[in-house]
Amino acid sequence: MRLDAANATALQVVARLRAGRGIVVLPVGALEQHGPHLPLATDTLTAQAVADRLADALDALLLPAIGYGATWNMSGYPGTVTLRPETVEALATDIGRGVADAGARALVMVNGDWGNRAPLANAAEALPLPAIVLNHPGLDEAAERVRESRPAAPGLMHAEEIETSLVLAVAPHLVQGAPEAVYPDFPPEFGTVPMRMHGFSPSGVFGDPGPATADKGRAMLDAIVAESLRVVAALLA
Ligand SMILES: [Zn+2]
Repeated sequence: MRLDAANATALQVVARLRAGRGIVVLPVGALEQHGPHLPLATDTLTAQAVADRLADALDALLLPAIGYGATWNMSGYPGTVTLRPETVEALATDIGRGVADAGARALVMVNGDWGNRAPLANAAEALPLPAIVLNHPGLDEAAERVRESRPAAPGLMHAEEIETSLVLAVAPHLVQGAPEAVYPDFPPEFGTVPMRMHGFSPSGVFGDPGPATADKGRAMLDAIVAESLRVVAALLA
């Protein structure tokens, strides 16, 4: 079972890090537009759900989630609040150093937002303890198994069937209906160069949220957790 750092005392944290394998889990998300039906915290909610289960399985110390991320590509939509990539890197670096000082022996970052990948990887490389960034491993394969709609672009999952299913699984009370599908005409260089997204879909939906279900979301979360545990086991071996 995990220990929630925010609710624990300093003594409990030190005892947990000494007694077990000394693993710390940090969920990292974003405050980012997710269409007219999903909350801004969508990526944080999914990262938190995965992190909760990982931390339970690993008897880990669970840190409070970082609820902001590097989401420049969605910053044209009101409501999105983006951090600079260097800010994300600095946050993760300082948090990693802090838990290393407290006695942590490994840091597992559970990341729910695309733009955080590079800055978190940079931070992980430079930390004084083994650190790993999990970008929902297993999700791509699980999404292919459950999806009934096609993606708006290869690998793009944003406020459509996949993300809506994930939020239906973890926070159904925060899902407000199912808006219309949007399949924008992307330029050929889409996906190879950074682009802001608001010009392509006024609603912020990319794909079709219609076929989303909580069962699909649960199946994908199970797959992410199972694959994440395999990756962590490899890190610790
Ligand atoms: Zn998202």
